[in-house]
Amino acid sequence: MRRLVRGGLCLLLCGCATMSTQQEVQLGQQESADIAKQLPIIQDADVNRYVNTLGDSIAKLSDNRNLEWHFFVVNSKEVNAFAVPGGYIYVNRGLIEDADKMDELAGVLGHEIGHVIHRHTVKLMQKEQGANVGLAVGCILTNVCKDPATGAAINVAGSAIFAKFSREDEQQADESAVTYVTRAGIDPHGLPEMFQKMMSQQQSNPSAVENWFADHPSDQSRIQDTQRLIDKIDPTVLKGLTQDSQAFHDFQNRLKGLPRS
Ligand SMILES: [Zn+2]
Repeated sequence: MRRLVRGGLCLLLCGCATMSTQQEVQLGQQESADIAKQLPIIQDADVNRYVNTLGDSIAKLSDNRNLEWHFFVVNSKEVNAFAVPGGYIYVNRGLIEDADKMDELAGVLGHEIGHVIHRHTVKLMQKEQGANVGLAVGCILTNVCKDPATGAAINVAGSAIFAKFSREDEQQADESAVTYVTRAGIDPHGLPEMFQKMMSQQQSNPSAVENWFADHPSDQSRIQDTQRLIDKIDPTVLKGLTQDSQAFHDFQNRLKGLPRS
């Protein structure tokens, strides 16, 4: 039923050659409303304030469409993050709790912001035309539908938004993340450091990061590519960038104390 509804929405929005920013924002609002009903979103004022302040500080300097950005923390231990068209970014508590420093979370936010700014999901949907077909396949590929703990919630989110990005899209999002966080005064090394952490987890605890790797195809070369980009930045600029903050650790501790779903 939901897929039929979504299919209808998509015919409306994706049937035309290009989706306008207004249509994209509308779609994002719709997706975000569905996600709010289906996924356990953390409702804590301090947590939400921090993630939105950090996210905005990265997004607003690089977004020339003036989107209204919204950042949410999902109460899931899985290490993952995803973006919905129109400026809606979701990051799981598992990823935040795994980060050692502020710049690691900032790097991942920058990456997801990159997917929105470059409209990767919109392009995927337009390519698929009847987007629900491709997205349902995405759900199967990511195994998100099989999670008994989160069940239908993940199923809906999975079928809606866990589209599989191409390596080119991933690369573009990584490059953008390096530019965006640097512009925001944050050290971009956090991005390859977080990737490295995820790659190690893929060896030791594969199920915890399975969905990240399903949605964001990657391998070791991605870390090297990102590092190479960072190496091109003027060392005096790099030296002045922020890696960590007390506010991040206060936020992380606050999150760690909240009930788990
Ligand atoms: Zn990605």
